[in-house]
Amino acid sequence: MRIYCLEDEDSIRELLIYTLEATGFSPVGFTEPKALYAALEHPPLPDLILLDIMLPGEDGISVLRRLRRRADTRGIPVIMLTAKSGEVDKVRGLDEGADDYVTKPFGMMELVSRIRAVLRRAAPDEDAPLYLGPIMLDPRRHRVEVAGSEVALTVKEFALLELLMAHPGQVFTRDQLLTRIWGYDAAVETRTVDVHIRTLRQKLGKGSALIDTVRGVGYRMEVPT
Ligand code: CA
Repeated sequence: MRIYCLEDEDSIRELLIYTLEATGFSPVGFTEPKALYAALEHPPLPDLILLDIMLPGEDGISVLRRLRRRADTRGIPVIMLTAKSGEVDKVRGLDEGADDYVTKPFGMMELVSRIRAVLRRAAPDEDAPLYLGPIMLDPRRHRVEVAGSEVALTVKEFALLELLMAHPGQVFTRDQLLTRIWGYDAAVETRTVDVHIRTLRQKLGKGSALIDTVRGVGYRMEVPT
């Protein structure tokens, strides 16, 4: 788990890096917002950001606001490090979307447990319902709805739709779909995939246009604009 720490105070930042490394994280320290922004231009993005409030150049609240406006950084959990309780109120009052706050001086083990709690909350729920255009697929209830009406799918059609919806925009070849849905050894022809896509499209009605045929390659789920 990569954690970016934007903290200008050397002693605190060094202690953070030391503690995070010792507890199994991969921390990277930054002393000013500019350095953090530069690092965010180069993926992989961090799993979490620790953000001080009083910083040189730009304060942490403004940094948080920027992170929340960028599509690629919007979802990264942020824990604010605040020097006085007044700042906590300010952050809360502004409601800029920090995931948690710790007030200095804080215990390192307390911070680590807060980090773990925030990461747990942020972890994608594998079984969460998927939504794309008018289509809703709920793996837990094995249910598909198009514009609120239930659509009855076969087990294979459901698995096919679930795979495509879980990776919107990604093209799957017929062979990949065969391997993933029917299993590698299954004695089925690639034509089977086309047949299932056809019945799936018929059943999806209004949602059918979201399944793209990529000529000569395979299929993909369109990302609705
Ligand atoms: Ca500071």
